Amino acid sequence: MGIVMGVMKAYRYRVYPSKAQATEIDKQIEFCRKTFNELLALKKLAHNQYNANLGRKHLYSEVKGTKETHSQVVQNVADRVDKGFRNFFRRVKENARKKGFPRYKKFGANRSITMPQVNNPENIGKKTFFPKVGWLNTKYHREITGNAKTLTIKKAKTGKYFATVVCANPTDNKKTTTDKEVGLDLGLNYFIATSDNEFVEHPKPLKYFAKKRKRLNRNFSKTMKQSKNRNKKRVKIAVVDERIINIRDDFAWKLSNDLVKRYGFICVEDLNIKNMVKNHCLAKSINDVSWGNFLEKLGYVAESAGGRVVKLQNPAGFCNIQKSLVSESVNPRNTSQRCSNCGEIVKKSLAVRTHKCNCGLVLDRDTNASLNILKLGQELSESKPVGDNTSTVCCTSKQQVFSMNQEAPSIRAG
Ligand SMILES: [Zn+2]
Repeated sequence: MGIVMGVMKAYRYRVYPSKAQATEIDKQIEFCRKTFNELLALKKLAHNQYNANLGRKHLYSEVKGTKETHSQVVQNVADRVDKGFRNFFRRVKENARKKGFPRYKKFGANRSITMPQVNNPENIGKKTFFPKVGWLNTKYHREITGNAKTLTIKKAKTGKYFATVVCANPTDNKKTTTDKEVGLDLGLNYFIATSDNEFVEHPKPLKYFAKKRKRLNRNFSKTMKQSKNRNKKRVKIAVVDERIINIRDDFAWKLSNDLVKRYGFICVEDLNIKNMVKNHCLAKSINDVSWGNFLEKLGYVAESAGGRVVKLQNPAGFCNIQKSLVSESVNPRNTSQRCSNCGEIVKKSLAVRTHKCNCGLVLDRDTNASLNILKLGQELSESKPVGDNTSTVCCTSKQQVFSMNQEAPSIRAG
């Protein structure tokens, strides 16, 4: 598979295979998993014992003549093994903290098969064809645009099947027509507070399901290994996980689309800063994942619409401060303490919800923070001109401005 440039978009649809088709998909998934492990073992052996690097072509020759799947499907497995190694070597070179040596896939993991070149793209959107499985009954709940490139059939842990079609140059991305600017404060009281004095609540059902998930997890760990009961619990957990992911994604997509429609320039603080806020464990884990998920999608939506997202990064060295010592009061940018009108520092504890300054400004504390974030973002983007919307601009070691230029993240079409 060549490198595909430009904007990519992934569309996901539920498929309803017949019994025979489901069996065939499961068989191919398992075959691909085993092949992955075999190729990985081979590459490891060559690397460890002979210091040889088996390239993609060699891996292809190993799987040549496969009867179990379409040749391209098994070649895609070889590609993934190869990519896993290349990513590993890149991380070693970059001296990343987590090197992530490619790992063997256990049974039940990695439940998908991919056709790297869609067989008959003209049919996609109406019908789905997967080699050796046949025509799959698919619920195309929304229109596909662009050129269909890859087709992946995935079996979720809940037992449902999904088809993901990745398209190049989708045309259903709306273009931002506004250059209005906004700052966002990701907070504990609200999911976001904007510099236009708007507040978005945390998605409520998330907390409920997170609690449920925790309870199920406890029950699960009490069950006997390899018992029927354990498997039942496993499916229950998968169902709850699916709900959590759906709620989180729907929320993030809707919010991102809404913001990008209304603003062409969005400033937000990096999560590392927020992470330092002292917080209850469960709430923290929910918030962290939700914010990360939201920022990823916001960047994607903004980029495909031609908008910009500016992320304020941690000042250098700050992350070395012991986490336990850090509370919001020493947020290095002081976005919550600083007055957005006069710049004066107005000390206030987390419990104080209103910003009151001697200059006369009285505002919600989160709105005040988002105004500061907007200001910082504007300063940053002025000092570092951005040529076009898709370029990445490197700044000082302390700060970075970028409009995200990335391939489609793991996207669920909403
Ligand atoms: Zn003031």
